Amino acid sequence: MSNVRSEQTDSIGFFGRTTPLDLVKMYGTPLYVYNENILRQRCRELLGLSSLPGFCVNYSAKANTNPALLRIIREEGCHADAMSPGELHINKLAGFTAENLVYVCNNVSADEMRNAVENGLLVSVDSLSQLELYGKVNPGGKVMIRINPGIGAGHHKKVVTAGKETKFGIDLSCMAEVRSLLNQHNLTLAGLNQHIGSLFMEPNGYLDAMDVMLHFVQTELGDLLPNIETLDFGGGFGIPYHKYEGEARLDMADLGARMHAKLAAWVKETGYKGRFFIEPGRYVVAECGVLLGSVYATKNNGPNRYVGTDLGFNVLVRPAMYDSFHDVEIYRENGTPDHELTEQTIVGNICESGDILAKKRQLPCIHEGDILGILDAGAYGFVMSSSYNQRPRAAEVLITADGTPKLIRRRETLDDLTRQFVGLE
Ligand SMILES: *Cc1c(COP(=O)(O)O)cnc(C)c1O
Repeated sequence: MSNVRSEQTDSIGFFGRTTPLDLVKMYGTPLYVYNENILRQRCRELLGLSSLPGFCVNYSAKANTNPALLRIIREEGCHADAMSPGELHINKLAGFTAENLVYVCNNVSADEMRNAVENGLLVSVDSLSQLELYGKVNPGGKVMIRINPGIGAGHHKKVVTAGKETKFGIDLSCMAEVRSLLNQHNLTLAGLNQHIGSLFMEPNGYLDAMDVMLHFVQTELGDLLPNIETLDFGGGFGIPYHKYEGEARLDMADLGARMHAKLAAWVKETGYKGRFFIEPGRYVVAECGVLLGSVYATKNNGPNRYVGTDLGFNVLVRPAMYDSFHDVEIYRENGTPDHELTEQTIVGNICESGDILAKKRQLPCIHEGDILGILDAGAYGFVMSSSYNQRPRAAEVLITADGTPKLIRRRETLDDLTRQFVGLE
């Protein structure tokens, strides 16, 4: 296929044996479309970062919990994390078991901790008060703690998750209190984790934070090392959202070489026999997803050209919430490539002025009836969508390895929206 603006998906055969226009005829819009081959490729790149026997890719399931994708990720050999009973439930539906799941939570109830423990999961707690609660829920058990290495990173202050300005992790200066709580409840410290933030395109911060944890464990927790079985360095691996501007990818060969050397040297020095986790969410699933939507109106308000679509922030909230950028493709019946650009703002159908998908973009002129493809929508897309304005949530389709489409979540219906009301009769 070659269409008004489609070089990116064309170049990787994203839609397999079908086309966006065919998919829209079959399933309607808004429609999340995922590509199995790309998902598998991203898993393999991550698994290839280190060949150490204890090296694990722990997929952070919150980025996309469709069980069809979770199954593929599991088949590729990744583990997964869960941070709520719902995520734990869905991970199990997709075939994950206690051996390849960890519970990485913050600010949860005793019941929720108990549920994770009863399911056999290792639980990571992220404050002294949660450690104390865990000790009461599971005295004599194993526990992980989330530390705050004091270094943060991320594309927006809302996604920086370490450093003093965030709610996450136990400060490194609190180890005396940690030890005392461990003793008091007869707990074994079985692991540490950290997560410094999301979307790094340059790996130095991540590697520095790895150094902080490794050094800390060796110098401050050396006596506990024989019981420590998991060191989890968190996620945050970025993907190039500006593909049409030629943004470079993370250099995985370089990152892998540096990470592997660091971990191998540390194992040699300390005799550590446990596992090393990385915990990517976005990197695994973002690029295997394209969101399709319909253009229903266009207008000029003064100097601004607005393109009205069914892609409101109920469908994809990232642009409204984080000012995120997503590349936009344009498909049209009998469309041909068009390189003449006009400034346009793409908006949704939600009654809010903040309902903006793409601001002042230089794009080929978009017309009523066009189909738009929003690239890199596989992570924090569907999972963050809502039924605001009482719009049913989108359907999801997988382009399977042989290039054929398969429905993996049906579109919500009006009945789905009203199912939970009580006393309507
Ligand atoms: C969200 C999250 C991740 C994954 O972050 P990405 O930026 O999607 O890679 C990993 N670990 C924890 C604890 C998280 O909260």
